[in-house]
Amino acid sequence: MEDLGIGRPSTYSQTISILKKRKYVELAEKKFLPTDQGRLTIEKLDEFFESIISVDYTARMEKVLDQISEGDEDQTKIIKEFYNEFIPMVAEANINMEKIAPKLTGEQCPKCGSDMVVRSSRYGTFEACSNFPECKYIKPDDKKKEEPTKTGVTCTKCGVGEIVERTAKSGRNKGKTFYACDNFPKCKNMLFGKPTGEKCPKCGHLLIEDQKGQIICQETKQCGYKKDEKTN
Ligand SMILES: [Zn+2]
Ligand SMILES: [Zn+2]
Ligand SMILES: [Zn+2]
Repeated sequence: MEDLGIGRPSTYSQTISILKKRKYVELAEKKFLPTDQGRLTIEKLDEFFESIISVDYTARMEKVLDQISEGDEDQTKIIKEFYNEFIPMVAEANINMEKIAPKLTGEQCPKCGSDMVVRSSRYGTFEACSNFPECKYIKPDDKKKEEPTKTGVTCTKCGVGEIVERTAKSGRNKGKTFYACDNFPKCKNMLFGKPTGEKCPKCGHLLIEDQKGQIICQETKQCGYKKDEKTN
């Protein structure tokens, strides 16, 4: 950029960080290499915005901007000229820039039977119905299936987390259901039975249903409250 006389030193680092953020380049052996997305982007920009995506144009525009700042050029006039050139280019690109056919997953949409395709968003890739926007089916993420089941009970230990139902993945209790605060690891509240949603009248922590179906305080040792004792 410096050799071509475009950009200002103050804009270089911002330019580079945008290139990285949009994954147009990747760093390999201390050099920036264009990614497939980067090449595709520049190819399409060249095709549809040739007159403004050029070093000459940028250099000329920078000169004009200097003239505006010095009061030798009229800002409104320059912006008008730019838009008169730019808007038709955007319109043309909207019509003629071909959409890249998304990759088929080989599966069919369970809702409408259309092909399922791989789509990507800034949050990653996902599988969706190709009949979008008519059909909005999105295949549930396998990872999300492992998400714990919410109980709707707020944790009394931290006051912010929610008690969720989980399945032990390892250890002595592997495969067994347990209840814990979803604010883990900040909060290590773990219950040895399903929370009833009520709070212990003695200590204010959660009441749980133990294996025998008895309603007890989660603090079996410290508090020891049992609902039956009270009613009896
Ligand atoms: Zn569908
Ligand atoms: Zn908690
Ligand atoms: Zn208690």
